[in-house]
This record gives sequence, structure tokens and C-alpha cells, in this order.
Amino acid sequence: MKKLVYQFHEGRKEMKLLLGGKGANLSEMTNIGLPVPPGFIISTDACKLYNEQSSRLSNELFTEVLTHMTQLEKKTGKQFGSAKNPLLVSVRSGAPISMPGMMDTILNLGLNDRAVQGLIQLTNDARSSLDSYRRFIQMFGDVVFGIPSQLFEDTLSLIKKKKGYLLDTELTPEDLENLILHYQSIYLKETRRSFPQEPKQQLKLAIQAVFDSWMNPRAVIYRRLHEINSNFGTAVNIQAMVFGNTGKTSGTGIAFTRNPSTGEKAIFGEFLWNAQGEDVVSGIRTPEKIDKLKEQMPNVYKKLISTCEQLENHYNDMQDIEFTIEKGNLFILQTRNGKRTAKAAIQIATDLVHEGKISKDEAIMRIKPKELNQLLHPTFDPEALANGKVIASGLPASPGARSGKIYFEASQAVTRAEHGTKVILVRNETSPEDIEGMAKSEAILTAHGGMTSHAAVVARGMGKCCVAGCSEIIIDEAAKEMITANGLKLHEGDVISLDGTTGKVYLDEIKQTKAEISAAFHQLMEWGNQRKKLNIYVNADTPNDLDTALHFGAEGVGLCRTEHMFFHEDRLPYVRQMIMATSTTNRKKALAHLKSMQKEDFSQLFRIASGRPITIRLLDPPLHEFLPKDPKDIANLAKEMGLTTLEINAHLNGLTEVNPMLGHRGCRLAITYPEIYMMQTEAIIESAIAVSSESFPVQPEIMIPLIATKKELSLITADIQETAKNRLERTSITIPFKIGTMIETPRACITADKIATEAQFFSFGTNDLTQLTFGFSRDDASKFLPDYEQKEIFVNDPFTTIDQEGVGGLIEMAIIKGKITNPKLKMGICGEHGGDPASIHFFHKLGLHYVSCSPYRVPIARLAAAQAALMDQTQTTLQES
Ligand code: ADP
Ligand code: MG
Ligand code: MG
Repeated sequence: MKKLVYQFHEGRKEMKLLLGGKGANLSEMTNIGLPVPPGFIISTDACKLYNEQSSRLSNELFTEVLTHMTQLEKKTGKQFGSAKNPLLVSVRSGAPISMPGMMDTILNLGLNDRAVQGLIQLTNDARSSLDSYRRFIQMFGDVVFGIPSQLFEDTLSLIKKKKGYLLDTELTPEDLENLILHYQSIYLKETRRSFPQEPKQQLKLAIQAVFDSWMNPRAVIYRRLHEINSNFGTAVNIQAMVFGNTGKTSGTGIAFTRNPSTGEKAIFGEFLWNAQGEDVVSGIRTPEKIDKLKEQMPNVYKKLISTCEQLENHYNDMQDIEFTIEKGNLFILQTRNGKRTAKAAIQIATDLVHEGKISKDEAIMRIKPKELNQLLHPTFDPEALANGKVIASGLPASPGARSGKIYFEASQAVTRAEHGTKVILVRNETSPEDIEGMAKSEAILTAHGGMTSHAAVVARGMGKCCVAGCSEIIIDEAAKEMITANGLKLHEGDVISLDGTTGKVYLDEIKQTKAEISAAFHQLMEWGNQRKKLNIYVNADTPNDLDTALHFGAEGVGLCRTEHMFFHEDRLPYVRQMIMATSTTNRKKALAHLKSMQKEDFSQLFRIASGRPITIRLLDPPLHEFLPKDPKDIANLAKEMGLTTLEINAHLNGLTEVNPMLGHRGCRLAITYPEIYMMQTEAIIESAIAVSSESFPVQPEIMIPLIATKKELSLITADIQETAKNRLERTSITIPFKIGTMIETPRACITADKIATEAQFFSFGTNDLTQLTFGFSRDDASKFLPDYEQKEIFVNDPFTTIDQEGVGGLIEMAIIKGKITNPKLKMGICGEHGGDPASIHFFHKLGLHYVSCSPYRVPIARLAAAQAALMDQTQTTLQES
């Protein structure tokens, strides 16, 4: 029979898939000699078998487990279920990819009415022994039978209230015995069975429950959010218990080897005296900083610090460590690569390079491009912040600056956010059930819990702003209101702002400013630049956008949409006159006005770009967006054009299109009215000459949209050449300009060899190309795309991630054909896909010269391009060796 159970010493850190992350690391730590309580692992293979056998634990497996229990008894010198010397274990889930808090764990298993007496004798501590037992009943009831923890908590509160206690630790052994009886009767009432006294029976049920927890709704949602494969299954770790709840020299905590928010190289952790592990994570008690441990138990602290260093050096990455101190003895219960913010990830990766622990390439590969989003986004404007009204202050659990309306329930946060409201989720503490609400909210505020509470850990993982442990506010979730220390009462829907970097809470919305970027970020990007093959351009229409993008490292402009420049209020009348003109003379009059404005636009962009190429797309207007609808605007336009409103309306009717997306747009407009593109060419060349004479180099690339045939292109190109020549003849300055085309119709791809003879560059407009290839519009697709994704017709939204097979196939064909007739053709991508990491990998493989994306995605694209090049490299070396 296949081996399904492994002792800790039989595993290694590389065996995550089989043993789960927790088990593989417990094994590794055992083997490098760290103080890990002994135990064994039921593999993920067993979980898969369990699922195949419709959730039944086979006798063979359970027999194998019991053999290992016997070995564990030998190792610990204790006996399972013994009244004298009982062995207690934890039954811990552990998936191949860490899903903090998503799945179930049971502590203190093996306790029963007899064994608890044994434990009391053994520990000489009735209080903590009985406390362990009552915790076990609650956890077991919750995990195995889904008994709401609240039922137990309420009973606990009631007894405390009766006795006038504030803390759990005030409960006497008699109180606890009484509590245990209460807990057992809750168990009986809820399950119609008495609490199982047979430890083997407890073990069997617990193992099944952990296997089952792989499919619980919160784990399923977490996997979906983090794109984790559902087939892995979970392992189950069975481990001898150590006790952090045995008095003043005991406790439990969590340590990060570096700061998970900032990346700073310093141990960062939290600790609770006289408590068991789950107390820290649940956020029920607010823990102390780890430095307190240094004051009170310097030797244990020293040992902990050296263990942290040892683990970090062993794994070459920041570790998140769980530890328990039992009567002055340190035990390590878990280590894993710590979750961190993007800021911390970059700081840690570059620091590790400087410390000689990892290579630059490894550092580049460790950052997820999409995570950079967190960093690039605005923070609060310092002045607005100084004038903001601070209403409370909590722990800076996850950085970010967000304003929004407060909601007190996760489900409400979800609905409101889906209706477009910016939501701040306010809870006393979050639990895994809140995960979807957290994902949909802008930010999260909790009253309880520390830096390692559920809210904090999950928020950091999601890159969400979070202020946790804001204990000075009182949150009444049922009444949907919160009250600050000053007595300010806020209701559902009121607006607040959270600063996740300082932990401050402000009243109302606060103005924001550009993101601040660290030296480490620039360093990492610089390393990436040395690797990437693709150039990264930006889609920018305004000086402001271009400025931002250059700051982020853009190497050119891949798409400057001139119609966006026409939307300004002062230009709209002329645009309208241009469109509505009844004669060429009138059209030219309107165009003359627009030309001087466009010249100014282009001059500014040329100056800012200082020599980098700027791809200017000639007018591709959705005509209907420019036309007046309001009777007042129509009357104005009539007046300006010297026509009656009747005439204007008739004209407007004539311009109405049944399907504007497939209408009179792009180059088709220039076929009808050549003077429009000629005006734009004049504006481009004249401003290029002007800026060039200020001794700024310029590189305009004039781009013609929506070409389907070679003839369209050759007609329009001839006009542009002629116009440009005309302007350039009057000066001694030469302008190295290019004329090229967007490739965004399937026909252009198929006839790319012909089109390439007329073009100096191709820029694939993947938005239109996707629409036209599938034959549906981006604006209407939202109605059915969810069904397509749900039925797995599409794995991804094809407007976000390029459809490699179809649209990608057309692009590939156009590249090959284009190169045949024009080997010097420059080729790139503009369109949403230019900033999507998965698509960038594909474009890298196609050997394009550049991708172009919106300003804030430039760094994401740079990193993704570097990773694509590095992955390519490892693949080739693999093939070679
Ligand atoms: P999670 O994956 O949710 O962190 P764990 O399996 O790590 O769940 O366990 C929850 C808590 O119980 C942790 O704080 C852990 O350190 C503690 N714990 C687990 N096993 C033991 C044990 N054998 N002895 C003492 N504490 C334990
Ligand atoms: Mg854990
Ligand atoms: Mg287009």
C-alpha cells in the first residue's frame, strides 16, 4: 500500500505538495535541530483519496495513523487518553500554498473527563489544564460540527459577569469545571450526542473535519481570490501539544523576521502571556510588542532572535514564525515565508541582494507585478492631511490612504461596492467569513486585534489599507454605528478616511497626492531594465500623464489619442463645427482654430518627452460623443454656424449611426474629409519644427487608425507625406518622423504583408482587435462575460488578458507577414493588454519591440517584461542542458 503518513523527520521543505507547507516546514525545522514538538503528517494524497472516496476515512489510513500515534507516545513518553500521563495533540490543516486562517485546526485533542485529571497531576496546574479542556470542547464543537463559537463565548461571558471577573485568567478551577459542564451540555444540545470521550474517536472526527475544511466556503473564496488551484487538497499535521497557558513564564506569539509593512530589517512580533496560540490570531485579546519579552525573559528572547536569524538564513527569505513558551522553554510551531506589502517585498528583496543572500534575478522574480499597484497609488495630500480632523487612532496594520463610506457588515460592503460605492468596512474584528466584503472594500477598520490579527494579515495580503486595533472607538455592529472617544457618533454611510501607514482615522474625505517611490523600488526596476527585451511605452494624451509615466520609467509614448485633446470645453464648439460643416471651406475654418490648439498640445508633449518617440494617432472620434444633445447646445451651435436649429437637427439626424462602433470613424473619416488629417499633420510637423529649433530632439510617429486595406493607407499616407514635405521645405531643420498604422481589424492582420509596404510601423490596437475578432463590443460584453467565465468558455476576460489562440494568432500572423515585405517594420502593442502581466509574457515571446500601457501600469509592465525575459532565459538553458 502507498505510504500516506510521514514522521516529521521523514520530510523536507521541498515536499510542500505532498506534506503541505506547514508540514514540510515542520519537517525541515525538525531536521535542522530546532525545538519542534514531535509529530507526523497525513499527506495531501490521503486528502485526495478521501475526496475520491466521497469523504470517508478508510480503515487502512486510520490504522496507519494509529501506528504513528503509538510512535508519538513512545517519543513523548505519554499515552493517548491516559488518566495519569495523557498525550495531547493538535490536529492542524496545512495546504501546499499558505492560506492563513482559512482552514481549521484543533488544539488539545485527547482530553476527556479522565485525561484532564491526568493533565492536572502532570502540570500541577488545575486552572490551565481545565482551561485547555474547555477550549478543546469549543474548538472541536466548532470545527467538527459547526457549533457557533458564540454559544460558548456567551456562556463564558455570563459566568464572568456573575462572578464580576474582567479577565479569563480570573476564572478559578471550580468555575472552569462548571464551565466545562455547560460546554458539554451545549455540545449535547447542538449535536444530539455526548461529547466523545474516546481519544481515537476524537482523532478520527478531527482528521475528517480538517479534510472537509478544504472545501469550506471561505477557503473556496480565498483560493478563487488568490488564484490557487483547488485540486491540491490539504495535509493534516498531528503534533504533540505544548502549553503556553501554564502561568507567568508561559505564553505564545508570532514573530516576523523583518517588518511585513515596511520591510525594515528588525524582528517584528507580538506576544501574549499565559495564552494558547489561537488567542493571538483571533484578535480577541490585544497582544503586547515582542520587546516586552526581552525585558521579562531575556534568555528566551535571545534564543528566539537567534532562531529567527537561523530560519531566515536557511530559507533566504523573511519568515513568519509561530512560537510558544512553556514554562520558560521555547518551542517553534510554524515557519513560512511571511506575507508582506509590496513596499516591504521590494525592500526585503533588494536588501537580501545587498546582503549577498539572493541574486538580482531572484529579487526580480520574487515581486508579483500586479502587487506594485499598491505602491503606485496616491497617498493623502500632506496639507489636506494636516487640516484633516483626526477622530481616532489605531494600529497601522496595512499601508494605503483611502476614503469611503462606512458599512458594518461584510455582506453589505459587497452589495454597496458592487453598486459603485467606495466602502470602508468597519468591524469589531474580522473573521474568515468577512473575506469577500474585505476584498470589495477600499479599506478596513477594526476595533480589536493587533498587527497580526486576521484583519491585518488578510489586508496586507490583499494590498488593502487597514487600521486595526482601534480600541478607542466603540463599534455597535447591530445598531450600525460607531462612537469615537470624543462621543462623535457615525452612522452607516458616513464618510471617513483611513491612513494605513500611521493608523489615523479622519472624518470626511481627504485629498490625495502622487505616490512616493522608494530607492529600493528604483533599484529593482533598474535591475529589471538590464534584463527586459521589450520597451515600455505609455498611453498618454496629456502633459500630466506623460510626466507621471516618465517618472515611472516609460521609454516613449505608444499612443497619444488626439480626440481626447478635443474634449476640452473651449475646443468643443470648433470640433462640432468641423463635424457639422456643410462645405469644405467651412470645415477648414473650424480646422484652422483647432490646429493652433493642437500645435500647443503637441509642443508641450514633445518638450516633456525630450527625444523619446511619441506615437500620435490621428483623429479616431466616436462622432456621437462630440455632437450636442441638449437643446441649448444645439441652439448655440446653430448661432455659431449661422444656421437654424431646424437645419442643425436635420443634419444631426443625418449623422446618426445605427452602430457607431462600426461606423464612420478612424481612417474612414479621412477618406471622406482628407483635410482633417492634413490639419493634424501640419500641427504635428510645425510643432516638431518649433520644439526642435529650441534644441529639443523630437521623434513624432504619425499613426493612422482602423486601417483595413492597403489602399486606404496609401491614399492617406500620400496626403500626409505631401503635407509634411510642404512644411519641411520651408526650413532647414530635419524631423525624423515615421508614418505607420494601427492594426486593429482582422482584415489588416490577414493582409499585413500588403499593408506593411506602406507603413514604417505597426501598432496593434488590441482593444478593437479583440472586439472585432470576437464580434462583440467591450461595452456590452459585461452582460454575458460572467456566464462565459463561469462556464469556463473563457478562463480570463479577453479584454483584460489577451486571447492568445484567436486574437494572438492574428497578431502573430500579422507580425510574420509584415516582416516578409518590410523587415525594418517597428512593432508594438497599444491597448489595455499592454499593461497586463500575462499578456506581456506572450508579447515578449512574439518578439515585439514595445508594449504601451496607461501611466500607472508602466512599472508593472517593466517588471513583467523583465520576468518574461528571465523565464525565457531559464527555459533556454534548460533546453540546452
Ligand atoms: P493556522 O494555520 O490557522 O495558523 P495552526 O495550525 O498554525 O493554524 O494553529 C493555530 C494556533 O495553534 C497557532 O497559534 C499555533 O501556533 C497553535 N498550535 C498549533 N499546534 C500546537 C501545538 N502542538 N502546541 C501548541 N500550540 C499549537
Ligand atoms: Mg499557523
Ligand atoms: Mg481603435
